[in-house]
Amino acid sequence: MRVALTIDTEHPDRPCRPDNPERIAGLLRARGVRASFFLQGRWATAHPAVARALAADAHVIGNHATAHARMTGLTDDGVRATITEAGEAIAGAAGVDPRPWFRCPYGDGMDDARILGLIDELGYRHIGWDIDPNDWDDAVGAGELRARVREGCREHGDGVRVLLHSWPDVTADALPAVLDDLRADGAELVGIDEL
Ligand SMILES: [Zn+2]
Repeated sequence: MRVALTIDTEHPDRPCRPDNPERIAGLLRARGVRASFFLQGRWATAHPAVARALAADAHVIGNHATAHARMTGLTDDGVRATITEAGEAIAGAAGVDPRPWFRCPYGDGMDDARILGLIDELGYRHIGWDIDPNDWDDAVGAGELRARVREGCREHGDGVRVLLHSWPDVTADALPAVLDDLRADGAELVGIDEL
């Protein structure tokens, strides 16, 4: 069973440890696990050393727009601007071109023909997810996050894409147990370019 951890990497929604992206990167590096990070453009500009380290660790680097605006609320030129500016910011910070990997903030626009057409025009394709264990939700603790990921992957089976975020404390706290569970279930952790 192939499992792709996809990690939206952006400015936090609520107070949390500022070093969670580095904690997550360190845990993955120590276990030789490859994941996929969708970088927010303004986050990449603010954290170029972390962005560069993620690329150096051979994770898939994708684009998560410049800021966390809903794509369907933007004009065509607004969509082009947020994607293009983020792509340039990510390339400048991480040293890699994030194309063709793109994920809409909130997933908003991923079912919208106009938005998908603009994403395609810019050389990207949208990458969704199969499981959202709600690590962004304050009410979800590490034990629950762990259980949701394990059960969700077992239910979905091969090729499952798990949505996580770089900033919640619970994500970094639960990650060692999540990786232990997945390995125990025989999962092969892969980048989205391996699906
Ligand atoms: Zn996001």
